[in-house]
Amino acid sequence: MDFAKTKALFHLPEGMIYLDGNSLGPLPKATAARVAKTVTDEWGDMLIAGWNKAGWMAQPTALGDRIGRLIGAEAGHVTLGDTLSIKVYQALASAIELNPDRKVILSDTGNFPSDLYMAEGLVGSLGRGLELRTVAPEDVMASLSKDIAVLMLTQVDYRTGRMHDMAALTKAAHDLGIVTVWDLAHSAGALPVDLSGCNADFAVGCTYKYLNGGPGAPAFIYVAPRHISTTRPALSGWLGHAAPFAFDLDYRAGTGIERMRVGTPPVLQMAALDASMDIWADVDMHALRERSIALSEIFIAGVEAACPDLRLASPRDPNTRGSQVSFHHPDGYAMMQALIAQGVIGDFRAPDIMRFGFTPLFIDEGDVGHAIDILAAIIRDGTWDQPQFKQRAAVT
Ligand SMILES: *Cc1c(COP(=O)(O)O)cnc(C)c1O
Repeated sequence: MDFAKTKALFHLPEGMIYLDGNSLGPLPKATAARVAKTVTDEWGDMLIAGWNKAGWMAQPTALGDRIGRLIGAEAGHVTLGDTLSIKVYQALASAIELNPDRKVILSDTGNFPSDLYMAEGLVGSLGRGLELRTVAPEDVMASLSKDIAVLMLTQVDYRTGRMHDMAALTKAAHDLGIVTVWDLAHSAGALPVDLSGCNADFAVGCTYKYLNGGPGAPAFIYVAPRHISTTRPALSGWLGHAAPFAFDLDYRAGTGIERMRVGTPPVLQMAALDASMDIWADVDMHALRERSIALSEIFIAGVEAACPDLRLASPRDPNTRGSQVSFHHPDGYAMMQALIAQGVIGDFRAPDIMRFGFTPLFIDEGDVGHAIDILAAIIRDGTWDQPQFKQRAAVT
């Protein structure tokens, strides 16, 4: 794969090294014109006819298939809409019903809080003695047992990049009759995922991180073919109905993955995502993974050599790490702000983690080398130790 070519497809502000594509992917150059066209030619000129004529109604499943290729999903088993938190709720609610006699949802303490909050909310609403149990990430395998209904995990830890073995955990869960829900927020577009090969049950993820769909881009949901006809959608909105335009008073779930749709799709966001999926259509995920590991390894070696005060927070073995690298430092927040002021964009996650994403579609060795040099200079010269870098903003 020619990554210089993909880099040229993104708008990257002059002088900026963007190591935050794991949090909000950058703008593909084709996106603005694509969205403008949807606004003027479709919304503007077609108005309501756009639902049929411009294919707006089919967008969630058409785009679902484009994403499905990246995550090893069977065709026709991924759809889009809503935000990831909503999709977590939806997948979990359906998964619980597949194991009606069990009471425990197992997750880990490295999970993204929203996933845990959504699970807590659902447990509270269902009120039939369900319990959310969390264990340390490394204890998940040993904590699987026959009282667990659903294992709900995020494959790659948002803070450290630590990666669960999806195939092994799914198999161990199935051997005990446990249904799995995988969150691919930091996996989709970051590394090869093989949902079908892992025999996964449910999966969800977002499209504004590695997939470059833009802020507010819709989330996706996958349901395994063997479950789809028996999966009951808890969020039974009209667009998941078998015949939305029959306007029946009773809900009847649509046949396939359509049933996981809820309401009106965000058409403009879908247009933006479609433009970015044009880039992803040609990406070989194995080549991308190889390059992501190579870039991450250069970064770790360079930072450890130049900044001995920073302590690696990510797994050292690249095979158990996603596409991000994090370091601990008690003054990590101020250091990250000083770094951002010099055009190297990473982010900070409480309590002390400086996080950097490696996204080969637009980051190359030159960028990684510059980022190391600038970080080393900031620490060596103590430039970070100034009041303006210690002021906490709302979004870190
Ligand atoms: C980014 C992320 C979210 C965010 O959810 P939204 O509803 O899209 O805001 C949820 N879960 C995980 C694991 C994430 O990484």
